Order: sequence, then C-alpha cells, then structure tokens
Amino acid sequence: MTQSPPIAFLDLPKQQSRLHDAIRTRIDAVLSHCRFVMGPEVEELEQRLAAYCGAAHCIAVSSGTDALLMALMAEEIGPGDAVFLPAFTYTATAEVVLLLGATPVFVDVDPATFQISPADLAIRIGQVQEGTELDPRAIIGVDLFGQPAPWDELRAIAEREELALFADCAQAFGGAYHGRKLGREARATTLSFFPSKPLGGYGDGGAILTDDASLADLYRSLRSHGEGKTRYEVLRIGLNARLDTLQAAVLLAKLDAFEAELARRDEIARAYDAGLRDILQTPTRVADSQSAWAVYSVLAADTASRDSLQQALRDAGVPSAIYYPMPLHWQPAYRDTHDSAISLPVAESLGTRILALPMQPELTDMEVQRVIDTARTWATQAAEARL
Ligand SMILES: *Cc1c(COP(=O)(O)O)cnc(C)c1O
Repeated sequence: MTQSPPIAFLDLPKQQSRLHDAIRTRIDAVLSHCRFVMGPEVEELEQRLAAYCGAAHCIAVSSGTDALLMALMAEEIGPGDAVFLPAFTYTATAEVVLLLGATPVFVDVDPATFQISPADLAIRIGQVQEGTELDPRAIIGVDLFGQPAPWDELRAIAEREELALFADCAQAFGGAYHGRKLGREARATTLSFFPSKPLGGYGDGGAILTDDASLADLYRSLRSHGEGKTRYEVLRIGLNARLDTLQAAVLLAKLDAFEAELARRDEIARAYDAGLRDILQTPTRVADSQSAWAVYSVLAADTASRDSLQQALRDAGVPSAIYYPMPLHWQPAYRDTHDSAISLPVAESLGTRILALPMQPELTDMEVQRVIDTARTWATQAAEARL
C-alpha cells in the first residue's frame, strides 16, 4: 500500500497559513492599543455575532462552559432544581448544572438525528413531577454535531411546563433552522469558540446571545464579578468570565472567512454522503435545517465493525474520533445524580457504533476521496471475510 501522509483531524497550522495575514493584522492592532481586557475588539465581535444571528444582544465570554453556567446563574438555578438535558452530549452541558448544586435529568435522544427526544423529555418531566421533590426549572437543548435540536417541540414543552429553555449551540454556530441562523431559538443561546468548533479561536472563548435586554445586562454583570454601574459596585456574586481582547481579534479575522468555511464543510459532507451511504449509516438531516458540520459521524452495524473501520482508517493515515463513547448518565461523575436503574437506550447504544470522520475546511478533495476509498476498501474486505 502506498503510504500517503497522514490526514489531520484539525489542521490548525494549515488554517493559520490560510488566514495568517488577516489574523496578524488584527493581533497587531491589539498589541498597539494594549487594551487586553474588554478592548474594542470585544464589542466589535459582539456586534458582528449578534448581527450574524439576528439576535438583539451578544455577550462575549471566556468559554462555552462559562456561557452555560451564566445562563443558569441568571435563572437562579440551584439546589432542589431539576434541569433537563440530553444524555448524549459533551460533559459541559451537565457539569454546569451540578456546579450550581442543581440536578441534571438526562433525556434520551433521537436514533436518527441524535438530537434530544421531545417524547422522552415529556416522560422525564412527568417522572420528576410525580416521583421526586425536585422542582423542574429548565431545559438545555443541544444543537448536536452542528444540527439544530427540535426547537419547535422544545419550546412547546417549555411553555406548557413553564420551564426556562436554553440552547447549547457550542457545536452549531453558523447552522440554520427554518431558514434562519441558530441563535434565537431559546431564552439564551450559548456559543463556544474552542479551536475545534466551527468558529474556533486560538484558545478558549464563548458567547451568550439573547433578545432580552434585561437578561443581557444581567449576563454582562455576571461576566465581570457581578458589577453594577461602576466597576466597584457589586450587585451580585459573579464570575471573571470575560473574553480576552486577543481572542476577539482572532475571531473577527476568522469570522470574515466563516461563510466560505461553512460552505466547504457542507461540500465535504455531501461528498461523504454520496461515497459512503451504501456501506454506512450517514447522518440523517434534521428537516428544514442547515448543519454547521462541527462533526460528521457515521454509524456502523455494530461495535466490532466500527472498531475495524477505525483501525482500517488509522492504518491508512486517516484519523477518526468517537463522540461520545459513554452517555453522561453512565459517567462516574454523574452516577450519583440519578436512579441507577434509568435506561436511555438510544444514548446508550450510539456510542458503541458511532465514528466521526475528518471534517474541517482544510481537507482537500483528494483527502476526502482518500477517506471514502479507505472506508470502501474496508467494507469490501469485511464483506469478503464474511463469505
Ligand atoms: C464544546 C462544548 C461545550 C463547552 O464549550 P467550551 O468552550 O469548551 O467550554 C459545551 N457544550 C457542548 C455541546 C460542546 O460541544
């Protein structure tokens, strides 16, 4: 077999060289004015992000996790409160609930789209109401892998049950639902600019979007030690959760290239679909939506098959990743939060069959083809081995 150079899962050096001049100009501007905390780039970024999503307010913060934490703090979520969220997501979604002393209630996901299941959510809310002393307070919907959560259904449930609805959009900035960019589906939408996210900075970063002016004021206060009108008026317990000016500068430069990157991600997704759909289960699209393609995950028939595909890819220099090998309710840190008998069959099984393929705008057509060819060779060999 000819040994081609390995493909990168996230090629930051290549991204760097593509965007180098624009990023450098922005960083140099910060180095000239030296306003490293809450410099003008932070506000410029907030305005650009709000306009991009059509949201009234954007508050740039230190990470996607802090954004979620602040959304719950503003709601005064605490001990005795139940917050509903999918079991199949990154740990940060649940972590913030426990940090505030509240109880995460894990909800199963849809087997086709992997998004939170509204039907299971309704069941879990009923169980908390009937069988516990907990006070149901909020739902965190997650736009998993770049596709939207079922927001119409989640809003209907939140309204009926009088729950606050939050959108963890860490993986889906740039995605759209019913023809509009994500960012206005819930009371507050949280973003992450971790380097591997669709809009990735060069360090940690995040933001909160909201259409509610008083919430926006509250978030600004929480971001900076609960300050009031002046820095030394302390109205509440807050955080130091500001976004560095340097990160805002990098993100502003990257935002200029973002639509082209999204288009490239979509092109790659379509090429994978066409090349793989007869040998693997390719991603089911959420109806009337556009994914931001943070992650492109296929499903193999079973664990042995997934593992052998991953090995075949590895042998050919193609990286892959498993998001998420274990549902949150099985994680050691979360085991004590719920009845150990709970069963969330879809979340429990997805991790045994799922595999994320390289998905980043830096991939060349030849590299995409190599991923497809490697998977097809694996499928042919696996079929022959079964004969
Ligand atoms: C990345 C991520 C977060 C956390 O974002 P950070 O910026 O890394 O703190 C939260 N939720 C989901 C679903 C994520 O993928």
